[in-house]
Formats: sequence, C-alpha cells, structure tokens
Amino acid sequence: MEPWVEQVLALKVGVIGGWLVLWLIWERVAPRATRRFEAGAAWGRWAKNLGLFAINTLASPLMVVPLTAWAASHGLGWRPDWWSGAIGLAIDLIILDCFIYWWHRANHEVPFLWRFHRAHHWDQDLDVTTAVRFHIGEVLLSALVRGGFMILIDVPLSSVLVFEIVLLASSLFHHSNARLPVRVEAALSRLIITPSIHWVHHHALRADTDSNYGSFFSFWDVLFGSRSRTQRWDAMPIGVEGEEDRNFARILAGPFEPGETPNALNRDA
Ligand SMILES: [Zn+2]
Repeated sequence: MEPWVEQVLALKVGVIGGWLVLWLIWERVAPRATRRFEAGAAWGRWAKNLGLFAINTLASPLMVVPLTAWAASHGLGWRPDWWSGAIGLAIDLIILDCFIYWWHRANHEVPFLWRFHRAHHWDQDLDVTTAVRFHIGEVLLSALVRGGFMILIDVPLSSVLVFEIVLLASSLFHHSNARLPVRVEAALSRLIITPSIHWVHHHALRADTDSNYGSFFSFWDVLFGSRSRTQRWDAMPIGVEGEEDRNFARILAGPFEPGETPNALNRDA
C-alpha cells in the first residue's frame, strides 16, 4: 500500500474518532428523544451494534480494502485531464453520493438485498452506534458493487477514501440522538442529511422506512421523489414495522432464513 494511503487511513481513524466522541457526549448531555431501553437492555443493544461493527472492522483490511484498491487500479481509463485535483474530487464526491443513494434504495427495493439491510433497521432505538450496525453480507456486497462502479467511472482511490470519511462522519451525525438548535438543523437539512430527516427513515412504518434514502446530500430524495412528508417526533417508534429486533446470532443468520421478505415493491401485494 502506498504511504499516502496509510496516512489518509490514519487521518480517518483520528478524525472519525474525535467526531464519534463529540456526538457520543452530545447525545448524552442533550438528547432529543427519550431512550427506549433501560440500563440492562441498553447495554445488550450496544453489544449487538458494536459486535456487528467489530466483525466488519476485522473483515475490512482482509476484503474491503484490497477489493477497493484493486478496483481503483483497474479503472477504464477514460477520464479526461480536467477531471482531477480539487474540482475532480468535488465531482467525485457528488457522483459517489448519488451512487450511494441508489445503492441504499436498491437495498430496500430488492428483496435479496433487504435480507441483509434489515439487520441495520431492526435496531429499535437510534444513536451513534446504529451508524456502524451493518450485516457483514451488506458490507461485502456494497464493496463489490462499489468496486464495479469505481471501475466504470474511473474513480481514483483518493476520492473514495475522502468520500468514506465524509460518509461515516455524516452517518454518525444523522443517526445520533443529539438535540440541535431547531433553526440550525432546519438550515442544515436543506443541503445535508440531518437526524430529523434520517430518523424518519428508521420510523417503524414501512412507507417511511422506504423513503429518505440520502446519506450526505439531502437533495437526492427531493430530486428522485423519495422524501417522506413525515416530521420526526420524539416518541416515534423505531425499527421495522411488525418485526422485533433479534439476538446477535439470529441477526447474522437473518439473510439465510427461508421465507418472504416484504419490501417496498411487494408490501401491498
Ligand atoms: Zn435503510
């Protein structure tokens, strides 16, 4: 691995670590919604979220990083010279965010993908730990599909690494239970995804779960007609409509269970 890649990865750990601590403290000092679990159950919930994160963290250097680096070095090579530097990076961030919007939407609309993504939505409370709660299958499928996209669009590794930092920072922020000044959040939400937008995506009402797919910029949902009209309220039930969260082993086994997985395309059928 080139030295600059290691420096960016070290920067990512430092920046994200500080950002994580900020929101962990904020949501404790000034929470927006009342916590849904008492002390014992809350620890159990955190253990599940951080357990899934631990598996993904172990798998990342083994599979996600090599696959991403390989894809970056096998781009189709059609990118013109002007598409580089700061302008190139800005364009790449917008394109990658649009890609993530559609990938997230596909995770809700394609039953096979929802089998994995629902592990993230089974969480019945939200805070910064939900931002890292993903099934390892979803993480690997994401890396594969993103690798293909990188090859097609000729995305350099530097753009992907910067986007990863932006995406994770955004995700920690919009899953957090931090109380923000109303006007500040309203202003921010015109451009980026805030907790008020993303909590509606975790509302245990299927029509809302299948809306508000944005990850960083908030205009994709407006542009592609998937913004929910629901306003977040503090006691809003969180999770998957009609389903309970499961124990750790059953979350991992979830995608391989037989049976139908209701989703946006067949929920009314
Ligand atoms: Zn989702």
